[in-house]
Amino acid sequence: MGLLDDIAAGNAAWAATHGNRNLPNLPARNAAILTCMDHRIVPLRLLGLSVGDTHVIRNAGGRASDDAIRSLVISYKMLGTREWFVIHHTRCGMMTFTDEEMRALLRSSLEPAWRDDAGWHDHGGGGSTHGDDIDWLTFADLEQSVTDDVARIRNHPLVPARIPIYGFVYDIDTGKLSEVAAAMVASRPTA
Ligand SMILES: [Zn+2]
Repeated sequence: MGLLDDIAAGNAAWAATHGNRNLPNLPARNAAILTCMDHRIVPLRLLGLSVGDTHVIRNAGGRASDDAIRSLVISYKMLGTREWFVIHHTRCGMMTFTDEEMRALLRSSLEPAWRDDAGWHDHGGGGSTHGDDIDWLTFADLEQSVTDDVARIRNHPLVPARIPIYGFVYDIDTGKLSEVAAAMVASRPTA
């Protein structure tokens, strides 16, 4: 069976025990989490939360992109969240290449790339320059990326000064969450 069949069977099992929960439209814990799309992160579970508790906004790196901020502003303005958590993580794929490497690989081809001791490679042929204008939001320093993103959200003109924004690093290997002290300073409400 392929994945398509597996998820059909998996959903049937899920729905059989799901019941009619009629959860409210607003998250019960009035919070939003911005984190990475990484397959090793199950955001609510690692925080001891349950379905219905918070919004979860995910992208590559858990970065405070324009679209992540769009979701956070909707989460606050329309859906009742009152505090936000930015969680990046150890061994993030976004630390394994640079924006310039990404652009060069896309110019080379649209085929999957791979990495060995010499760096990133692909088979080449039929690439595109459309990646040149995209900010891929890669990063080299984990605590700095959390601090930068918390500050970016804090300083956004559509984000109210009173909303708390907390920055954390999640350790993929130990399962432990650590506060990023510099991000806490960056997040201090300005009013
Ligand atoms: Zn990641």
